[in-house]
Parts: sequence; C-alpha cells; structure tokens
Amino acid sequence: MNLNISVLCDTCQEQTNCRLGFSNREYQPLRFRCASCGAPIDITMTLNFENVGADIQVKNAKRIYSEEFKPETNFVDLHLDFPVSFGKYIMGITPFIAASMRIDHKDMPIHAIRIEGLNKIFKQREKIKNIFTLYKRNKHELFKEKSLEFLGSKMGCDTELDRNRALYFVIERAFFPFSEPKKKLDTVAFFKHKLIELESVNKEALFLFINKVVENGFLKNTQKDCLEVYPRIIDIELMLRPALFLDFDKQYENCPVPYRVSSHEFLETKDLYKDIAEIISRALVLVAGINNLLKRDSHDVFAAKKRTPSNLDKFTDFSLGEKLNYIDDSWYSLSGDVMDNHLRNSIAHYKVEYNDVTQEIIYYPKREGMKQKCSESMYFLDFSRRILLAFRELHRLNLLTKCLFNFYYLEILGWQGTPYDL
Ligand SMILES: [Zn+2]
Repeated sequence: MNLNISVLCDTCQEQTNCRLGFSNREYQPLRFRCASCGAPIDITMTLNFENVGADIQVKNAKRIYSEEFKPETNFVDLHLDFPVSFGKYIMGITPFIAASMRIDHKDMPIHAIRIEGLNKIFKQREKIKNIFTLYKRNKHELFKEKSLEFLGSKMGCDTELDRNRALYFVIERAFFPFSEPKKKLDTVAFFKHKLIELESVNKEALFLFINKVVENGFLKNTQKDCLEVYPRIIDIELMLRPALFLDFDKQYENCPVPYRVSSHEFLETKDLYKDIAEIISRALVLVAGINNLLKRDSHDVFAAKKRTPSNLDKFTDFSLGEKLNYIDDSWYSLSGDVMDNHLRNSIAHYKVEYNDVTQEIIYYPKREGMKQKCSESMYFLDFSRRILLAFRELHRLNLLTKCLFNFYYLEILGWQGTPYDL
C-alpha cells in the first residue's frame, strides 16, 4: 500500500511530493532532506491495523493538498524496507514494485520473513538488551531467568558452559534476520573442525594457546566487546533493512546506483563502523594465533618477514592493515571488502563529508597535508551495507570466541554439558 502526500518545507517553503510506501510495522519513522535547503523533514506513520489506516505526522514541514504530482516539483519515494530510487515520480512504479523487479521472485518472501523478524526484535529490544547486560555483569540468576524466558526453554543454565550456550541461543534467535542466507551453521562446524584438527596434531600447543587467552582475560574481553555491538545493531535495524535487501539484488552488486535510505543518517552511524572495525581487529589475534598453530605449531611464531612480530602479544598492538599482512595464507577468510581501510581511516580522522540531500559520502583516505584532493565516494546505502557486512564478520568472530570457550570448558577443564530441551 502507498500514499501520496505533499509537504511545504518550514525553512524554505519549497514543495516536495512524497510517495510513502507502507511497511508492515506499527510505527514508521521516515526521513529525507529538503532538496532545496537541506533541512531534515520527518514523516512518521503510525499504522492502525484494525482500521487499515495510518496516522501521519509531519515535522519541519506542513502537509498541503496537491491535486497531482508535477514533474518539476521535488519528489521523494520513501520506504523503510527497500532502497528507493532518487528518480522522478512514475505512477505505479512504487518502491515495492521497483524492488520486486530487481530480484528473483523467490527471494522476496525471504526478505519479508527477515523484515518481520526485525519487527519482532524491535518489540523485544529492551528484553534482549537486558539479557546482554545481565550476562556482562555476571548477574547469573537474573540472566538465567530472563534468557530462558526469552527462549521459552528450561535448559540448564547454572555453569559458565551452560550460560555460554544460552547466550548464543539468544543471539541466534534474536539476530537471525541479519545472518547470511545460506551460511549460518557451517561457521560453528568449521571452527569446531579446526580445533579438533589441531587437538589431534598438537594438543599441547593448542591447550597452551587457549589457556593463555582465557587466563589473561583476552577471550572474555573480546567476547564482551562483541556483545557491545549487538544492541547498537538493534538501534539501527531500520537503516539496515535496505542493506539486507541487497543480499538478493544482483543488479546492484554489479552496478551500484544511488539509492535512498529512508531512515537514519550517516552521522548517527559512522562511529559504529569504526568501532566494529576496531573489535574485528582485536579479534584477529585469535585468528592469527590459530593460524600460527596450524602452520608452525606455536601461537607465537609468525612467518618470517620484515618487521615480523616476535609473539602474539606484540601482534595485538598492530593496526588492522598491518595485522592482515602477518596472517599468512589464513585458515580464516575475512570476507571481501568488509574492512575498507580507506573508509575506516577517513572516518577515524574526520576526513569525511556528507551530503544530506543526495546521501553521498565523500572521503579523503590519503595523507596529503592541508589540501584534500584525492577523494573516494559512496552512497549512504553502500555505507549501511558495509556496516551490515562488518557486523556479520564480527558475529562470525564472536562465534569463534564461543567455540574457544566451549573447548576450554569441555576439553581442557573436562566439564560436562547438561542436556537441553530446545
Ligand atoms: Zn527547504
């Protein structure tokens, strides 16, 4: 369902025609910038499912009556669930129809299921965030109560091993809409397989490595850092909806074109990208340790190269770019352009400009003194896609911390897991 409305900007009195595409969500905050003066205009739709109507509130603009959408008037398509084009108004080519034309018809129901999952996460956001907080603060009894209530389960939850299990069940249940379409369970199986392989070849060296990262608190801290990110992802789930759609949009993959994101803005989310990159960089210490074990039987021994770190401790202080140089022929593949050093460095050093109206991000990755000439650019939709991919990578590394903890409890300490009833 769609609704056409016209608004007059409070700041410059310029008219914008808007086609509002309805998502299946009770509360729908949409935002765009006035093409004339750049002022933010918010349109909030609150659906009334019983009467199949919607209450529409407009902020920073006034709603006016307009008989038809003329081509010379500013126009915006707005929809929470899809990337929408910046083009002119074409009657009938609604955001939903335009999106449907870009992907395989079998994929639209999958996108819809994920969007419905996000609606559920939003409704349960306080509960989910609370579970993370209780886990991090070691409030064991309350964690047990709230996590089992969320899962609808009676499984054992009285040891570190069982709490670890409950935590990751909560994560899998709550964050399934963000997971990659076909890759979910393989990740854990792959990590387990690698640890078993190492155990059979050099058990002593593996135990030494795991004991080290548990005893010096590194594994726990990495897990805690990862857990900080999940609640922040819930906060921007609206922004990630169009990015999730791109999982299916092969046309976009081959030829990105400007698309609008109808909620949130770049400045609200740039720090999250930087923080995720930082946490991934730290978690790579685990990847490097295992890589060294697989290749050279000791987590501390790196391949001989210029400026090779003398041990894993020294490696920890390297920058992300440097770290990647010293994980030779890695057993763990960091997905494609997840870690865009140019973008990350530019954000970290405030060398980014953002055009609110066109949603174009221009950044200056090179060190070039006072002049800023060499720029790169992307659209906010691409940036939100980077956040999604970086989050998936962080989640994968978090699953590695889970597997290492499990291995420590079960194989090194010799604990027994309790049965579960999920
Ligand atoms: Zn204006």
